Order: sequence, then structure tokens, then C-alpha cells
Amino acid sequence: MNKKNASRTERLQQRVLAGFVSTHFPEVKSIVISMVYNQSGIGKSLPRTVNFSPDSSAFFRIDCLNKDCVDGGFDLSQVLNSMIRDRREVAKGQLSCEGNGASADHSDIVYKVAIKYA
Ligand SMILES: [Zn+2]
Repeated sequence: MNKKNASRTERLQQRVLAGFVSTHFPEVKSIVISMVYNQSGIGKSLPRTVNFSPDSSAFFRIDCLNKDCVDGGFDLSQVLNSMIRDRREVAKGQLSCEGNGASADHSDIVYKVAIKYA
């Protein structure tokens, strides 16, 4: 098993262990993360939308799309946790990929989060 597969397995495990959105945040009805994924160098921009419902896993990590990226991704847990704590409905920001690999700083996302509360 190479490093990439190992970290993928580990990530699947994290997803299972994360539990459900409803368990952690019973007051949340839905979460929508809209983002534009930018891969630097090749100038590729890709819109992505990820939806979470109460029965989704409470695992708010978006994978990096760079195939050479190792252990990369964008962790929105902090953002979502503090939004839900303050019952904020909308937030915007930017995150860089946490991965190592081909090149540092190879991709980032510009995101917008919208949360609906019950
Ligand atoms: Zn990456």
C-alpha cells in the first residue's frame, strides 16, 4: 500500500468516526458549501458545491483535486464549528491546500458557506 492509499484509508476511517451532523449539531438543518477550486500554475478554476444534511457525516474536509497532492485538502471544520456556535448563516473565505507533494501552494479554494438552522 503506497502512502496515498494509506492516507485515503485513514481518511475514510476519520469520516466514519466523525459521526453524523445531527449528533454534533442537532440545530443544523442543512449546510451548503459553494466553492471555486483554483489550481495554480495551470490556471484551472472549478466550481464545486458540497451539501450536508443532518444524516451526513460531520466530516468537513474537502479533498484536493491535484492528483500529485499528498495528504492535502481543505479543512472547513473550524469555520463551520465557529459559525454554528455563533449561529451565523453565511461566511466567506479562502483556504490553501494543506498538502505536501508536487509543489507547495498549488491550490486553494474560495468558499462560501450557507447554514440553515432548524
Ligand atoms: Zn493539494
